[in-house]
Amino acid sequence: MAEKTTEEKNELVEDSLARVEEDIQEKVQACIQCGTCTGSCSSAFAMDLTPRQMWRLVQLGQLDEVLHSKTFFLCSACYYCTLRCPRGLPLTETIGALKRLASAKGIKNFKESINFYRTFMETVRRYGRVRELEFMNRYFLSMRNPLFPLRFTSMGLKLIGKGKVPLQVPRLIGEGKFDRLFRKVKELEERA
Ligand code: SF4
Ligand code: SF4
Repeated sequence: MAEKTTEEKNELVEDSLARVEEDIQEKVQACIQCGTCTGSCSSAFAMDLTPRQMWRLVQLGQLDEVLHSKTFFLCSACYYCTLRCPRGLPLTETIGALKRLASAKGIKNFKESINFYRTFMETVRRYGRVRELEFMNRYFLSMRNPLFPLRFTSMGLKLIGKGKVPLQVPRLIGEGKFDRLFRKVKELEERA
């Protein structure tokens, strides 16, 4: 089979992102704007759009505004809004899709959050769970700023002192145990 040109590959990526956007919109079409999600969210005080406002913008197809807000990146995936939504909408899952979309689009405003999310998923791909020390190393390297880790020194020392960060040697190269599984799911998603 002939190799795809860069242009063809870019078109495929754009098509697949457009399908992800449609899927996100579809998931919250039944929102009735009751505000229960906002009232349930313990992170709402720090968000620039409340969860209810974010879902309205998603319904209206204004994903750019949503992707440039802080709201979905401040979600801690506690699932409380999902449990309480009277329409039974998959809200936390949809926020996960927004995070993946922002990461795929490389939205610059949130480089720290996007790199955090990417490197978190890289360690999950490798072991099926997070290995804290490896995750921290990957995250710091991804920021390409030698001074960046200094911001976390005090917290890191406290966590190590309390035994929350097992001292395992990070493995930064090679295939992850779950890479094939992740690739397969991506293929299935692209075909759907
Ligand atoms: S709780 Fe559900 S229906 Fe109510 S505003 Fe939030 S998403 Fe919409
Ligand atoms: S899952 Fe996210 S948006 Fe929903 S209540 Fe929890 S922190 Fe808030």
